[in-house]
Amino acid sequence: MKIVVALGGNALGKTAKEQLKLVSETAKPLVDLIEDGHEIVIVHGNGPQVGMINLAMEEANNNMPFPECGAMSQGYIGFHLQSAIQAELKSKRIMKSVATIVTQVIVSETDPAFQNPTKPIGKFYKEQEVPALEEKGYIMVEDSGRGYRRVVPSPLPVDIEEKEMIFTLINSGNVVITCGGGGIPVVRDGFSLKGVPAVIDKDNAAMLLAKMVDADYLVVLTAVEKVAINFGKENEKWLSELSVEEAKEYIEEGHFAPGSMLPKVEACIKFAESLPERKALITSLEKAKEGLNGLTGTIIK
Ligand code: ADP
Ligand code: MG
Repeated sequence: MKIVVALGGNALGKTAKEQLKLVSETAKPLVDLIEDGHEIVIVHGNGPQVGMINLAMEEANNNMPFPECGAMSQGYIGFHLQSAIQAELKSKRIMKSVATIVTQVIVSETDPAFQNPTKPIGKFYKEQEVPALEEKGYIMVEDSGRGYRRVVPSPLPVDIEEKEMIFTLINSGNVVITCGGGGIPVVRDGFSLKGVPAVIDKDNAAMLLAKMVDADYLVVLTAVEKVAINFGKENEKWLSELSVEEAKEYIEEGHFAPGSMLPKVEACIKFAESLPERKALITSLEKAKEGLNGLTGTIIK
């Protein structure tokens, strides 16, 4: 099967040292999928990393715009991921090459997301730190019971500028890491592209990519093994299977947190409803293989 895998940025650690250690663990279940005969295309998140890069630049009195921070995060995460996956492939004598593509993703200038920032980035803050951050002009929200985070606009991806290159690399059997952090958000400006201050949700970018490469499966790997309704409450219920209609109902009822689980479920719905044979899976990295074998995770079809 052709699988687009979306990897959570929150699972990549907070420092280069942590990330380097974590990617070697990440590489194993991914290469297991390749060993099982699947073709995989990898998209990763960058919420914590792009926030860290932006903040570090600000501390250094170097105001680095978000698109440039996104580009840096694609290089930083892609570097670690591609070398870890390549090493894992070599250790299994699988003759494939891995490449990261600096990817620009087109968004619409009139996307309503620019008026309503929802995407959590950077580190988690305590409630008492919030007023000072709001003074700086940051928009702060509570993120799934884990603390407060800065949010930025998260427009929908419309097109992938490097798509032809992505198709070429995939079709010649290579492992491609692309649309990192959802891709660098750009708008068309005559013959050129212009970066915009936003962060595209990687789950949505992975969905668009999955459609474009005609994948069989969109697999969203995150910190939880399954999707829940009444998440974190007494009557919490973990779901193994969700039809598109059920998923839409649960969205209406507000079961999925905006900026975290909501974009994943929405991306899965859009992929699953685009063609009858297309399916999506949300599970944890460790359970990817089991999930594809129908043993765990939440399948949306
Ligand atoms: P990633 O870095 O993989 O994109 P996120 O932190 O953005 O991960 O989203 C995954 C998180 O969403 C889970 O770890 C969980 O804390 C939270 N979450 C919110 N609502 C739900 C839900 N209904 N079911 C499961 N997890 C949920
Ligand atoms: Mg996320």
